[in-house]
Amino acid sequence: MYSDKVALITGSTRGIGRAIALKLASSGITVVVNGTSNEERIINTVDEIKSFGGKAIGIKGDVSDIEDVKMIFDKIGEEFGRLDILVNNAGITRDSLLMRMSEKDWDEVIRINLKSVFLCSKEAFKWMRKTKWGRIVNITSIVGIIGNAGQANYAASKAGIIGVTKSLAKEFATSGILVNAVAPGFIVTDMTERLSDKVKNSFLSLIPMRRFGSPEEIANVVSFLVSDDASYITGQVISVNGGMN
Ligand code: NAP
Repeated sequence: MYSDKVALITGSTRGIGRAIALKLASSGITVVVNGTSNEERIINTVDEIKSFGGKAIGIKGDVSDIEDVKMIFDKIGEEFGRLDILVNNAGITRDSLLMRMSEKDWDEVIRINLKSVFLCSKEAFKWMRKTKWGRIVNITSIVGIIGNAGQANYAASKAGIIGVTKSLAKEFATSGILVNAVAPGFIVTDMTERLSDKVKNSFLSLIPMRRFGSPEEIANVVSFLVSDDASYITGQVISVNGGMN
């Protein structure tokens, strides 16, 4: 359906990013799979996409590092000569109560979760403005909306993403580029697997639907937002959280 489109999904070797990569590739979009630490995971995701006839390449690189970002976009330019869709998904947590939080953990979370959105959106805009068509979807979090004890750094990064989303939507609208955010609630991935059963159960009691979400349930919404069906939506934050508020 979207065979001429090329998408970069940052942090797509596992979890939500991987589900987004598979979903977009299944609709004919050519996907760039990215991650920093594990070449094997990049190859696995690319191979899985190819196994159902999808198109994908992998580019290893840290999307919070300006040199790596330049390298990633140079490779995309060389390979495809275009970029139509950017999903800013890469993210980390370094949780602790504020009084125990180190400056390093504060800076690292802000750099990887928020600065990466700045760096990648800037590079993506250079391609998207040429075709006057683009979609940027930023993965924020319910924590960026309601906060969470022990996650001041993460909440700040995710609230920051919402501010960037709304600002870029206004800056880019006349260039035909739509910018939205998706705010997942509690989704079953490596990021949440490491939490204790006690923490998981306390989250569960706050979810009206009484279950955690799956990465595919986030990917479905991203797939809608990058499609032509979402042609009049920009600057919005779509919550996907089983009814948590
Ligand atoms: P995850 O399973 O921990 O996966 C994170 C992905 O990001 C991995 O592919 C990782 O690959 C990549 N990554 C990390 N740092 C990177 C960097 N500097 N450059 C490029 N890639 C990087 O996390 P997830 O649960 O799928 O979360 C995905 C996004 O959804 C994050 O932004 C997260 O904040 C958000 N979110 C998640 C939940 C949830 O409940 N899981 C809820 C709300 C929002 P490498 O390890 O290879 O670098």
